[in-house]
Formats: sequence, structure tokens, C-alpha cells
Amino acid sequence: MVASFSPGVEVPRRPGFGSDLDLSGLVGVLLDGYPLYGPVERDGSSPEDLDACHGHVGLTPDTERAEYHYHLVVAARSVAPCLRGHAGSVLLRPSP
Ligand SMILES: [Zn+2]
Repeated sequence: MVASFSPGVEVPRRPGFGSDLDLSGLVGVLLDGYPLYGPVERDGSSPEDLDACHGHVGLTPDTERAEYHYHLVVAARSVAPCLRGHAGSVLLRPSP
């Protein structure tokens, strides 16, 4: 499955973070439309070049090319201290 995470684009839901088996999985999408992933990269390594918002450009389990995304940073005890994009860029759709 390949998903685009450009701001303003809907992101399909899938099981991911929350399981002990997938710490690199998608947790959700922050208010600026960029995705939030678990605390490790898709290869199991720790993200090393996170910016002040706990994000960076890189590959994710859902993309074939490097894109901006956030990571949970457990030591910081917060999801992301700031947003890279503009809040309100996420399209919400009611559940069927
Ligand atoms: Zn990453």
C-alpha cells in the first residue's frame, strides 16, 4: 500500500502502532496533515535527524520515496512540540 501524505490529502487508516510488533507503524495524522509514526524507522533503527518538531524527511512503511513525517519521541513525553505545516490541513470524514 502506498499513500500520499501531502497536507490536505486523506490518509487511509490501517492497524499499526499500538501493537508490540510494529513500533514503526502509523500512529495518526497531526493537524497539519503530516503523518505521525512510532519511535523507530521502518528498518527498526532510531530516527537520527529529527527537527525541533520531531519530524524529518525520510522513508516510511507507507511510502516509496522520502517524505516529511513525525515520530513519537518517548523521552520527550509529547507527540510533537510544534507543527511543520498549517493546522487544519487534514480532511476529516465521518465514519460510515
Ligand atoms: Zn522517520
